[in-house]
This record gives sequence, structure tokens and C-alpha cells, in this order.
Amino acid sequence: MIEMRGVSKSFGTLRVLDGIDLTVDRSEVVCLIGPSGSGKSTLLRCINFLESYDTGEVRVEGRLVGYVEGNGRRRMPDRALREIRRGIGMVFQHFNLWPHMTALGNVAEPLIRVRGLAAAEAGLRARAMLGRVGLADKEGEYPARLSGGQQQRVAIARSLAMEPRLMLFDEPTSALDPELVGEVLQVMRDLATEGMTMMVVTHEMGFAANVADRIAFLDRGRIIAYGPPRHVLHESTEPRLRQFLQTYH
Ligand code: ATP
Ligand code: MG
Repeated sequence: MIEMRGVSKSFGTLRVLDGIDLTVDRSEVVCLIGPSGSGKSTLLRCINFLESYDTGEVRVEGRLVGYVEGNGRRRMPDRALREIRRGIGMVFQHFNLWPHMTALGNVAEPLIRVRGLAAAEAGLRARAMLGRVGLADKEGEYPARLSGGQQQRVAIARSLAMEPRLMLFDEPTSALDPELVGEVLQVMRDLATEGMTMMVVTHEMGFAANVADRIAFLDRGRIIAYGPPRHVLHESTEPRLRQFLQTYH
């Protein structure tokens, strides 16, 4: 589903990704962990080409992302990039809902604007998606009257409504009060159970331990530990990883 081969990326003289090799199979959940500034967000953003990369290849469902196949570093046309992005949902730390629209409106609007659905059909699908994240009774509320956890679930519903084949999450619970983290993680856990392919940047080690098929530990732009949760969280003796994990106990 996702293949990264030798992906490197620098901002000026700072090498933020340094030879990343990573594959995510269909229906797999891969969690990315690592210290602040290690390149987690940048890695995730390369997958849908919100960031360009300097060398290597990113492929989603076999298609080279961002560049024209066999043509060096020539950028792919916008239309082709949009086509790839159609299959990829992304959820960020800050949910960026439209404040002047209800929960239902927030989910329905992109269906109308981007997918060209009729309002009635978009409304139906949006309602179903809000139900899926446990917010059927909140469809008429504006974001300001929803908790952070509810807002993030609306954002997830908005993303799911576009029927992505792959979901990217960048610290989706980091901005939430601790008591609201669980409800968002539960929605993500359900998604994983339903077979969604997911890449998740997270500091929630419990979630990573229980839900991830594999965990990648990123340090200074390199994956220095990778494997099933048991291996990465308990067996690996990589000193930087041990040091990182100690901050969670
Ligand atoms: P955090 O856990 O704090 O979110 P991260 O692992 O997601 O960190 P990135 O956001 O990927 O880290 O950033 C990696 C490095 O790249 C950091 O040193 C950051 O300052 C730098 N960086 C990120 N985006 C840019 C940019 N647009 N221009 C210049 N430097 C950047
Ligand atoms: Mg980040």
C-alpha cells in the first residue's frame, strides 16, 4: 500500500529524513514514534506529497508519488497528484473544522465541493459517518459547542466520508485533554479492526502496543528500530529508543 525506499529530505542544511525505507501493507497499522524534531510529521507528509522529498521513492498503491515515473525529479501534474490524494485521508493534531458550519455541514461540505455530490446525498453520507464515530446526536452542533474529542471525531468522519483507502494520523490526540483521548483512540481502534490501512504518529504507547502491527522508531531522520510492538517496546536494546521510552514511565 505504501512503499518508501531511500527517502531523504533536507530543509536547507538540516537533513530531516535520511534514507527512509518503510512499507505498509494493506490493512496494516504502523505507528511512528520518536522524539520531537525527529522527522515524523515530515515523513507522513511525504506520503501525500504535502512535502516534497529530495531522493528516493514514495509509492502508494504502486504509484510513484509527486514525480513523473522514469523522469528523474520532474513533478507530476496536479491532476495526477490529486488522483493519488483522493485515496488518502489525513487527520492532524488541530482539527481545522469550519466554525460557521455544523458538524453535519463540516462532513458534508467536501463531499459537495470536492466530490460533486448533491446536497441530499452528501447529507445522508455525512450522517452515516457521524454515526460511525459515535456522534449521531451532535450533527446540528457547531464546533464551538463540541468538546475537543468530539471535534476530532468530526474531523475523522469528514476524512472517512471521502472513502480513503489509507488514513494518515499526525498526533490526533496530542491537543486533547487527557480524559478526551480515549474516545478518539477508540474510533481509531475500530477503524483498524475494520481493516483500514493506517499510519499513525503518536505518543500514545498503549495504543501503539495494542493496535499497531508494527512500530517504527524514528531518530534524527532515520528509522533505528522497527518491528512488532513487543520487539520495539520491550526487546530492542537500541540505547536511544530505551532512553526515549523511559520518558513514558
Ligand atoms: P514533533 O514531535 O515535534 O511534531 P516531528 O518528529 O514531527 O516533531 P518534523 O516536524 O518532521 O518533526 O520536523 C523535523 C525537523 O524539520 C525539525 O527540526 C523541524 O524544525 C524541521 N522542519 C520541519 N518543517 C520545516 C520547514 N517547513 N522548514 C524548515 N524546517 C522544517
Ligand atoms: Mg510532528
